[in-house]
Amino acid sequence: PAQGLLKEGGTSFQVEHQCLGKGQGLFVPQFYTQPEAPCIQCIECQLMFSPEKFVLHSHKSPDKRTCHWGFDSAKWPYYLQLARKYLGTVEEASLKQLLDEIKQRFHYP
Ligand SMILES: [Zn+2]
Ligand SMILES: [Zn+2]
Repeated sequence: PAQGLLKEGGTSFQVEHQCLGKGQGLFVPQFYTQPEAPCIQCIECQLMFSPEKFVLHSHKSPDKRTCHWGFDSAKWPYYLQLARKYLGTVEEASLKQLLDEIKQRFHYP
C-alpha cells in the first residue's frame, strides 16, 4: 500500500495499545463502517487494520513482566486506548468520548 501516512485531524486521532507488545495507530472513524473494517493505520508500517487485528499488531516485543493470561483480541475495546499524547490536553475529553462511541458502535450496542 503506497497511500502513505494518513493525516491526523478532522475526526481521525491517535490510539495505542500495549498488548503483546506495543502499537500506535491513527484511527479513522469514517472507515469504521463494519466490525472488521480496516480503520486503524499503524504509524510504523502504515498498514490498515481492524480494531481487533490492531491490538494483535506490534513492532515491539512483549514486556516479559506483563501477564497476558486471558488475552482475547475480541475484547479489543478494553485494550485500545487514546494515545498518551492527548492526556491533559483540551482535546482529551472529546476524543475519549468519541473513542467510547466508536467502541460501542458494533460491539456493545
Ligand atoms: Zn496486554
Ligand atoms: Zn505496523
